[in-house]
Amino acid sequence: MRIHQLPSQLIDQIAAGEVVERPASVIKELVENSLDAGAGRIEVDVEQGGIRLMRVRDDGEGVYRGDMALALCRHATSKINDMEQLERVSSMGFRGEALPSIASVSRLTLRSRQADSESGWEIQGGGGEAQAPAPVAHPTGTSIEVRDLFYNTPARRKFLRTEKTEFGHIEALLKRLALSRFDVAFSLRHNRREILSLPQAPNRMEQERRLVSLLGPTFLQQALFLEQEAMGLQLTGWVAHPTFSRSQADMQYFYVNGRAVRDKLVSHAVRQAYRDVLYHGRHPAYCLFLSLDPVRVDVNVHPSKHEVRFRDGRNVHDFLFRTLHRALSDTSPGRAVDHATGELLELPSAASAAAVTTGGITEVTQQQPFRFPVQERRAGYRPSFDAQRPSPTPRAAADLDTEIPPLGYALAQLKGVYILAENGQGLVLVDMHAAHERVTYERLKQDLQGTGVRSQPLLVPVSVPVSRREAELAEGMRDLLLTLGLEVDRLGAETLVVRAIPVLLQGTDAAQLLRDLLADMVVHGSSERIRSELDGVLATLACHGSIRANRRLTLEEMNALLRDMERTERSDQCNHGRPTWTRLEMSELDKLFLRGR
Ligand code: ADP
Ligand code: MG
Repeated sequence: MRIHQLPSQLIDQIAAGEVVERPASVIKELVENSLDAGAGRIEVDVEQGGIRLMRVRDDGEGVYRGDMALALCRHATSKINDMEQLERVSSMGFRGEALPSIASVSRLTLRSRQADSESGWEIQGGGGEAQAPAPVAHPTGTSIEVRDLFYNTPARRKFLRTEKTEFGHIEALLKRLALSRFDVAFSLRHNRREILSLPQAPNRMEQERRLVSLLGPTFLQQALFLEQEAMGLQLTGWVAHPTFSRSQADMQYFYVNGRAVRDKLVSHAVRQAYRDVLYHGRHPAYCLFLSLDPVRVDVNVHPSKHEVRFRDGRNVHDFLFRTLHRALSDTSPGRAVDHATGELLELPSAASAAAVTTGGITEVTQQQPFRFPVQERRAGYRPSFDAQRPSPTPRAAADLDTEIPPLGYALAQLKGVYILAENGQGLVLVDMHAAHERVTYERLKQDLQGTGVRSQPLLVPVSVPVSRREAELAEGMRDLLLTLGLEVDRLGAETLVVRAIPVLLQGTDAAQLLRDLLADMVVHGSSERIRSELDGVLATLACHGSIRANRRLTLEEMNALLRDMERTERSDQCNHGRPTWTRLEMSELDKLFLRGR
């Protein structure tokens, strides 16, 4: 065969392969065009999963009559002119590919009217020869109708799934878009049934209402609102409490300058920030918006623009990690959002009215000004709880100016598992073991950041029979064990002796502790690996040192634990991401007893 130029229709169909994968990708391109046209309201109508019909109507600025044919041509766009504009592009589209691609694999009709035009105009796509627009009745704005997707590319049509699956993709996509632009009203209908109807959401209250419609009430109940700016980067949005983690990464919405992206750097930073508080294998939920100067991010990496490239990735990563990590640390009781089992929060009014912004971060439902606990820790705070040696309770009361502390005062212990306490609002229930484990873990981490975990010599050293391999391992890691508060020597080929253990773990079975620690170390292999996984090792220690179920505590011990929880970062969850406490307010108790107030 000789070389020849491909016909333009075929060029468009080839290009369509990159942009139009399925009905949802058509909706994405059309809705993004509407957003670029400054629409305040976008209506999406779909029949048979979009395969038969997709119609997107907007009230945007419309297309100039003389440009309508051009809109359907390849590489024709009204959004950029030159390289300089490409580098600072802020519109969703700019490649001028979507409409011609879609038109080449479907029956497309474009109808549009500009505000100063005497009528609307209509043009059909995909015909090859450009035709002149015909007049049509149409309000200001644009509607694009796409029928019979892939009717002329049977091979691609075979890849389409059932109507239900394709519609599922459309719905998920529209949710994603609706979360990106609170200032625009959206609606979605499938086979003439209304699926979504979202009014414009100009303020926090309305925005949270939209979040509830799209992500469900529990997400918002368990979310922190944050707002932080530094180095020309701005992050706002909602992150869910770790107790609201998901088994799949299906509630993660991240937008860069309004564009939904799935970016490795971003998800890595978020994962790191949650690492300490999320049980392995669980996925956090969030809806976050990052804004930065468009020149600092390249959106022209992929035709569908799902990926972006940051020019200073390191800074972006650090900023995201730090902001989120800080927000998530501050989830100790009293500062925390309401994660009790209660009902839907008195949305938006109560939530917004109570929101206070200090230090750049706001919490959704908190009543007191937000404070980072950093100062407190620098000032040399040492937790007072010690399972063996009760600390004086009155101190906590005095500290708080005789106000009742957030977790209240202990009343009793239930079945050796739960602490029951009374605070200003009602009943507080604490999982003793989980709470103590968290407190111990955070303290061990603090110790480690300082001079190392403080250790206490055992009155009687404990000798521990081990395998030769374990003995060698312990010998090789003597210094590391010392940093962890354990003094261990090798007595013989298969015998170790423990001479000291961490102060915080007094009273635990030293032999068992050492065996578990060695098991951890065997898994990690080299001592470098262990150093990088030290948090995990500390978690093992903390678990040992913690109060076991069925241990009886005195009221004083219980109160000391409550006070410790209040002062400990991230104490709302144990190291496995389970909640450590919950509460039943008087109103909820009243409801249980049908008692009107
Ligand atoms: P791009 O969005 O990359 O510019 P498209 O093929 O998606 O390319 O659209 C081509 C052009 O058609 C756009 O640049 C814009 O001028 C016009 N256009 C498309 N959809 C709309 C709309 N809903 N309202 C106004 N103009 C539109
Ligand atoms: Mg476009």
